This record gives sequence, structure tokens and C-alpha cells, in this order.
Amino acid sequence: MARKFYRKCVKCGKIYNPGTHIRNCECDPEGLLPFVYEDVNWDNYPDPKYGDSVWRFHEILPIENMEYAVELGVKKEHLIKCEVIAKEFGIQDIYIKVDSLQPTESFKDREAFMTFSCLKEMGYEELVASSTGDSGIAHCRGASIAGMRVHMFIPQNARTRWEELYDRMVQMEGNRFNPDCVRLHYSGVTFDEAIANACEFAEGKKLPLEYWFYNQMRIEGMKTLCLEVLEDLGGMPDWYIQGLGSGTGIYSFNKGCLDVYGKSPRFGGVQPWGCAPMVLASRGLVEGKVGNLVVDHMDTYVIGIGIPKIFESYPHLVSIGTVWFEDVFKGGKRAEIREFPRLLELYRADGVPEGKAGLESLAALAGAEKLIKMGKIQPEDTVVVACTGRMRLDVPELKAELE
Ligand SMILES: [Zn+2]
Repeated sequence: MARKFYRKCVKCGKIYNPGTHIRNCECDPEGLLPFVYEDVNWDNYPDPKYGDSVWRFHEILPIENMEYAVELGVKKEHLIKCEVIAKEFGIQDIYIKVDSLQPTESFKDREAFMTFSCLKEMGYEELVASSTGDSGIAHCRGASIAGMRVHMFIPQNARTRWEELYDRMVQMEGNRFNPDCVRLHYSGVTFDEAIANACEFAEGKKLPLEYWFYNQMRIEGMKTLCLEVLEDLGGMPDWYIQGLGSGTGIYSFNKGCLDVYGKSPRFGGVQPWGCAPMVLASRGLVEGKVGNLVVDHMDTYVIGIGIPKIFESYPHLVSIGTVWFEDVFKGGKRAEIREFPRLLELYRADGVPEGKAGLESLAALAGAEKLIKMGKIQPEDTVVVACTGRMRLDVPELKAELE
């Protein structure tokens, strides 16, 4: 039977049709290998047999045999059409995509369902991953449901938070959770060290490594957020705005639009002023060399996206040609604290459930407002803002401000 997809290097065009997990093309460590779909049966897209599950998009997901499809309960979250925010920002059509109601309360469940399904179909029973929080939790739960084993590398500096999140997930899952499917390795002090140790471990054991931007299974899983938006809008938005860490969310939104419509919308990748390496690089203010740029200080509460390094993803985000990077909260933490309550109230007023808009989502909304006021986004444009996490609303200064 002809395979329904192959992988094609973004740099040299070499085509791969592998039955095993490969991270990048042999031509270059930067040679990303996105999945390309052939002979898509659009009559079967979305497939009503799968109800509200993300598996209804299986025609353009990297799986051949649906027997290997792992069901993690990732469900469609509807778009909110914003009346209050539209008025406040002076724009007609602005939507919020809330994605923090998934089984482990973050959009990382979308990455996990795809990675486990692909690896299962390839015949793997174990994988290696590294995380400081949301992504790792989604993958531990995923391993248990898939009946696979994950070796999770967690840096010591994230251990307290990790244990809190992990305990909560285990409690929520109850009897369904099989702890035998998870091996926790507290390894290294920082995230970089934990990742390096995870790489070494994976190489030694010849196991696949679930590793951020280069894991195209992750991109494909995350793409389902885009597919839901396209379904709800009945077309492509003009703009998609998201808080930007390594850029997986934006890259995968672009992939969804390319797969369905063959074109890209425009992107607002938003970083907080106090830590915005990609914004600086895009303005030529720092050298955006792959992997080695570090912003020397951080002045932000938005640590979920305030990542002081330019990751390997920067050139790929630039290469999709449509990314507009923008920074918000000029003045750092003090400016953030002044702005947070207003933004939080805007989300609340348009119906985002209590506690479901984290700091990265506040930054995204602030970025949307800025792009509209600057005239980059036109009043007649359709805009989608991603409300994706629930990070760090416990900042004491913010709590005091809200009381
Ligand atoms: Zn290549």
C-alpha cells in the first residue's frame, strides 16, 4: 500500500519515508523534516466517525493505521468571538482560542497524542523526554494511556513545581494512571543540562528523543489547534497571535494553514519587553545566530515565554516568511504588573473561564492590541489570539493588585 505521507527536508529537499524516528536531515542539523501528505481524501476530512476528537483530522496527520491512534481525550475547544475586546481595540473580528481546558490543562496534550501514536506505529515502546512542567506532565499521562514508557528528565531547579504538577495529574487520573509507565530522572540543575543528559541517555539506549521544535510529530499534533480554528471560521484568519517561546505553536499553525489552504496567514509572535530575544534579532539588534544568543538579563514575570535564548527555531520562524515579532510591556516587570489586571479583565469579560488565562496569554493579547494600534493589523482583519496556558498567575504583586 502506498504510504499516505513522506518527509521532506526544508533545506535540501531530500525525501524520507522512514519507519523509524528521525530528528533531522543528514544534510544539516537544521534540516527540519516536515510531514508532507499525498492523495488526501478531502471528502473524509474532517471524519465524523471521530466526533469531537482531534482524530477526525486523521487524513492530514502522520498515521497510516488507525489501530495505533492513541486517544488522550484532546477535544475541540471552541473559539470565542470577542465583543468587549473588539470594541476596546477598535477592530471588528477578534477571536480567542482557549486551549487550557484539555486533560492536563495545557495545549501540550496535543503534542503528546501525536508523538505517542506515531512512535507506537513505528514499533517503539519507550521514549526519552525532558521538561520543566506542562509538556512533561502531558507526556507522562500519555505514556500511561498509550501503555508505553517515558523516561522524563527534569532539572533540579524545576523540581518543586514539577512535583506539584505531577501529583495533581496523578490524583486526577486516579486508578487509570500506571506509574510503571513513567521513569523520572531528576538530572542536571538547569533545563539545558537536563536536555543534554536526556540526549545522552537516549543515544546510549537507542531510544527516540521527544525534543521540542525538531520533533515534527509534536508540530503535527499541535497543528490540530489550527485545524479547529479553520473549521470554526470556515476559512483562514488574517492574523494569528501567540506568545512566543521557541515558536512551536506558530510554526504548527502555519503548517495547518499550508496543509489545508496552501498559504499562510500573518503571525504576531509576542515576547515580553523584558526578555525578547527574537524581537531583538528580527530588528538586527543582536546577532540571531542559531542556538548561541542569550539575552543577558530577564525583566519579566512571563517566564513561560520569556526564554532568554534564541533557540534553533528562530531561522525557521523567519523562513516561513510571515512572522512579525512584537514586544510588549515596555518597562519590564513594573509595566507588566500595571497592565495585567486590565488584560485579565478583558479576557474575563469576553467569557474566558476563571483561571484559564495565564501570563503568556496576557502577553499575546497585549501584543494583538499593540499591532492593531500600530496599524499593522487593519480594522477589517480577522484576528485569532491564542489563550494557551495558565502560567504563574500567583505572582504576589499581581495578587495584591487584584485584591
Ligand atoms: Zn536536507
